[in-house]
Amino acid sequence: MKFSKWYYTRPHYSEIKKKLKDCKNRMKTAMSYQMFRDIWLEAKREIEYMEFQEEIIYIRHLCGIDYQYSLGEIEIQNKEDPLLYALYDECNRIAATSQYRYELEQEFGKQIFEHMNQHSVTQNSDAIRLQSEESALKMQYRKLMVKDNRDEEALYQVFRKLIEIRCNLADSLGYISYIDLGYHIQGRQDYKIREISDFRYNIQKYITPAIADMKAKKIGLNCFPASVTNAEELISTIVTIYKDLSDETGSYIEEITQKELYDLKGRENKRPNLFTCCMLPYEKLPFIIGNYTGDGMETGYMVHEFGHGFVFYTAARKQPLYELHRSFPAVNEIHSKTMEHFMFPYLNMFVGEHKKEYIRNHLMQQLENMTYQCAIDEFEHLMYDKII
Ligand SMILES: [Zn+2]
Repeated sequence: MKFSKWYYTRPHYSEIKKKLKDCKNRMKTAMSYQMFRDIWLEAKREIEYMEFQEEIIYIRHLCGIDYQYSLGEIEIQNKEDPLLYALYDECNRIAATSQYRYELEQEFGKQIFEHMNQHSVTQNSDAIRLQSEESALKMQYRKLMVKDNRDEEALYQVFRKLIEIRCNLADSLGYISYIDLGYHIQGRQDYKIREISDFRYNIQKYITPAIADMKAKKIGLNCFPASVTNAEELISTIVTIYKDLSDETGSYIEEITQKELYDLKGRENKRPNLFTCCMLPYEKLPFIIGNYTGDGMETGYMVHEFGHGFVFYTAARKQPLYELHRSFPAVNEIHSKTMEHFMFPYLNMFVGEHKKEYIRNHLMQQLENMTYQCAIDEFEHLMYDKII
């Protein structure tokens, strides 16, 4: 079925709450491994289906479809979700500390416990309230960002409040600062502040001067149009290369196009300059969002997003537990950037005679992006270190 026909119904939050509480209690008294694991999986299914429904409405919201309605639904989600996740975390904590842990590891692998450890934080009522406030502020920030005439002062106030709330959240959860909590949320387990700052230092030492040198010599990006002039042509070219690359990428792209799991056209209330990939649990399918304007470099941005979708699609068909279907921030870009490189032999189809310019721009963008990302990272560290 095409995505536009998918049915959305607001999750029955109070019902899910009741079911999760019930799972929690039954897990504590389960008499056998089989019973215990079945209840644990039941709790997972509740959350997975809830996230599936929430993702449908989030995608519509990002695309500017049913904008006011989806906005209202997301505001409700933001209020309800923290308590539900706190209950779900409790179920997971019971699993992690239970006598059946070894058997769960044997059946589902050890990684799930690493994952749970990364994503759960000890909750308290203060933290749950702060998380709801944080989500509401993020929403407000996004609303301000879609407007053509941005109100800088309003943006600044939301930004400032968001940082305050995150610092309070870290405090209420017993973290030294939001930086520490942020590292935990990002799943940064085997590298910490020291390694990140060394990495940034090396980028600054080697890459920044190269960029500065290019700028001084007025070597910049060239703008050129793609030879695929609209979203339909772009999709059919992406289909051609994904089919040519392998059977796996071929069947993936086939399903995505059949179900129309993409939206590449501009629209009122659609977030501008947005190129992203959303992942729908339960159906185990990604949804790709872009704003294709016919610019030559944008063809690569789209191939990139379909690359994110492919990783999720593949993992979701191999891994038994839905938490393990998404990759995580430290490796997310490896798959999608690789697809950008796999696209090189097919560049003629996307940008025709501008192939060389494309490759040159691509390299420059990658270098510049490294400095840009590091600047953001350093800025965020500073913001959470000193309240503005
Ligand atoms: Zn990406």
